[in-house]
Formats: sequence, structure tokens, C-alpha cells
Amino acid sequence: MKKIIKCPSCGHSTPYSPDNAFRPFCSERCKLIDLGAWASESYRVPDESNPPELLELDPFKLDD
Ligand SMILES: [Zn+2]
Repeated sequence: MKKIIKCPSCGHSTPYSPDNAFRPFCSERCKLIDLGAWASESYRVPDESNPPELLELDPFKLDD
């Protein structure tokens, strides 16, 4: 009796069985992608969109 599930990573149908070493994913690649997504949520990349404080300095006033 084989159960078919959808790969959480790519959505493709894949058998949920001991034959599938990467279940519930369809492949090792999808498993790694999911682990990577989890890791990137745990270790958030610093937000580079923060406005640089240096913009508050007016370069033309440095000679004043
Ligand atoms: Zn997949």
C-alpha cells in the first residue's frame, strides 16, 4: 500500500514509502531546499535596506 503525498518543497507527487529516503520530499534536492529555508528563517540575514546614518551628514557643510 503506497501513499502518495505532495512534496512540501516543489509540490510534485511523491510516494511516502520507505523506498523514498527523502520523504516527505521527492528528492534530496528538495529536502535540502527546505532545510535551507528553515535555516535562513532562524538565522536572519541583516537587513541591508536600513537607511545609512551617514546620509544625515551633509558633505558640503564639512568645510564650513
Ligand atoms: Zn520536490
